[in-house]
Amino acid sequence: VAADTRFRILIGGQLQDTDTHLDVLNPATEKVYATCPNAGIQELDSAVAAAASAFVTWSNEPLETRREAVRGMAAVIAQNKAELVDILVHEQGKSIENASQEVDFTSYFAMTTAGLDLTPTTLVDNDAMRVEEHYMPMGVVGAIAPWNYPLLLGFWKVFAAITAGNTVVLKPSPYTPLATLKAAEYLAELVPAGVLNVLSGGDELGAAMTAHDGIAKISFTGSSPTGKKILASAASSIKRTTLELGGNDAAIVLPDTDPKEVAERIFWSAFKNSGQICMAIKRLYVHEDIYDEMCDALTDIARTVVVGDGTQSTTVLGPVQNKMQFDKVCSLIDDVKKTSARFLIGGEVSESPGYFVPVSLVADAKDGERIVEEEAFGPVLPIIKFSDVDDVIKRANSSEFGLGGSVWTKDEKQGAALALRLECGTAWVNQHSVVLPDIPFGGLKNSGLGLEGAAEGLRGFCNKRIVNVAKS
Ligand code: NAD
Repeated sequence: VAADTRFRILIGGQLQDTDTHLDVLNPATEKVYATCPNAGIQELDSAVAAAASAFVTWSNEPLETRREAVRGMAAVIAQNKAELVDILVHEQGKSIENASQEVDFTSYFAMTTAGLDLTPTTLVDNDAMRVEEHYMPMGVVGAIAPWNYPLLLGFWKVFAAITAGNTVVLKPSPYTPLATLKAAEYLAELVPAGVLNVLSGGDELGAAMTAHDGIAKISFTGSSPTGKKILASAASSIKRTTLELGGNDAAIVLPDTDPKEVAERIFWSAFKNSGQICMAIKRLYVHEDIYDEMCDALTDIARTVVVGDGTQSTTVLGPVQNKMQFDKVCSLIDDVKKTSARFLIGGEVSESPGYFVPVSLVADAKDGERIVEEEAFGPVLPIIKFSDVDDVIKRANSSEFGLGGSVWTKDEKQGAALALRLECGTAWVNQHSVVLPDIPFGGLKNSGLGLEGAAEGLRGFCNKRIVNVAKS
């Protein structure tokens, strides 16, 4: 494949090409949109060496200097919004509105992360001793990102790592590397050479990062199976890891809810980005008293949603991002047809080009069926009936995942009490999928390890150093 000079990797402040290249498809057309460098071990070694060398000075810069650099990144991303949106729409498939939101969020996450607290904590201060906990940079951070929100999820790690005084090697998903490479090109000038390095490459590059002795910490967002491989690989060097993994979030709608009032919020919490959100609603439990009404209200909304090529201004939801995920979603849809569940809308995937799946609502789905137990990560939502609250909490919790969950009710107090019984990292009441840079976020069970966001997430990019001073 001929080199596409628009997209290059960033190593030690230099934009570079590689001998081989990867095709990046537009999921709406299945045609090659662009090619990008295919970095291997040699490029990884160079990037880690550049990052290690830059760490010596960067880690000693005053915190305020590092904060300023990351605030500068917020501005540069905002300035280049139009170009980044266009690339995102073509490589990821999402709508223009969704891509605009992703770029805005990326800028906002930079600004907020740059300002998070990193003040040392006084643990003990008595007649005998003064003990302080300090947050020290770790070294070279390896950041590995998925394809659903490539820019936001990749650079969230970068902003935190750099603010904390680390240097970074970022690897975007091979499905969606382009907006990340382009952003890196613009952001490079804000930090000394080697502080930010970005390599596009295949899955094997990610595996090489997790095994690399020069990398102190891996911050990963992606699927649970890959997360497990990373944890195993990190064991050999006791590498620090933060893992943000898959989910199968349950939302529980109590009988005091007015379906018409909450339907819009519930619908978009499930279908935004064509369902390709780790903490989207993926199992909707609705009380039997309002079940039919809820199904009707959701179907009414689904009828109005335009699924299409993200480049079209009328498109609200784009295609599924890649063939692997498309096949998975299609196989779940086929499986539904073997059960007693029924499609309220959708359920038929056309043969025409593009990984398009219509908005699909599955009524009368039951626990134990694949559509309920597995993470679809696509625009298909099972709606499950329940009659007893204690029982439904148990069913919501009987999942290998524990990322998010929500309770919907007019009684906020009862909602919050029930939310506390959900075994997940974030339990919402009357909303879902709300993730902000100043709120800690992470999963339980197979959904992850460690947190991103807020001071706690920032400290995840630091080694804690306890300084214990005896008082004479
Ligand atoms: P994935 O695990 O296939 O890939 C993610 C990244 O890991 C890619 O950059 C990939 O190249 C790299 N990778 C693949 N094999 C690797 C290995 N052995 N070692 C190191 N790196 C490797 O995930 P995906 O399909 O890109 O993303 C979808 C999944 O991500 C879904 O399950 C979704 O729920 C999850 N996700 C989680 C969060 C969260 O914050 N918890 C956010 C978004 C997506």
